[in-house]
Amino acid sequence: MRYYIDYDDCLCETARAFSEIAERLFGITVPYEKIRYFNLQDSFQLTDEEYEQLMVEGHRPEVLMSYEETPGAVRTINNWIDKGHEIFIITGRPFSAFDASRRWLDEHGLERAKLFCLNKYGRDSFIRNSDFNLELEDYYRMSFDYAIEDSPAAFKFFQHLPDLKVLVYDRPWNQECELPTGNYIRCSDWNSISEWIKNN
Ligand SMILES: [Mg+2]
Repeated sequence: MRYYIDYDDCLCETARAFSEIAERLFGITVPYEKIRYFNLQDSFQLTDEEYEQLMVEGHRPEVLMSYEETPGAVRTINNWIDKGHEIFIITGRPFSAFDASRRWLDEHGLERAKLFCLNKYGRDSFIRNSDFNLELEDYYRMSFDYAIEDSPAAFKFFQHLPDLKVLVYDRPWNQECELPTGNYIRCSDWNSISEWIKNN
């Protein structure tokens, strides 16, 4: 089987880190549980300049390396790889973050997972003039059996795969979103993702 796995807030606790960064840079207190929108500019009520500053800070290599693993992610993924499944980590991070993102994976035991940067969120959601190493047309030539994703803004990347099962990682900002089809399954943690896939 082939797995699409999102990076931020699936493999690691990015939003919790951004909540701390927003407090440090701007004195804004929005705890993780209160992050209502996937767009952090809206969740933290930032100006365009502040948002850009937040994103630049959150993508510095040292900061990226400091993100905590989402409990169970590495163990579950390595278990799949041991069984012969293929793992594609498809992140919306810009290519400038590739090296640190790759290093984080390697240092957390995910050397065998492939990593790609795809412009998932358009020009509004990231650092200006970002590059990506996976072109959309190449992405659409790839196919997957399972996807693990937290962001409703990325669901459009699954429309071309009618049989794909999408495990939606439960997060405060996706509580109100309607799941597009019966192939979307909400999962509270990596244990429930692993169990669901084992049983279906
Ligand atoms: Mg994500």
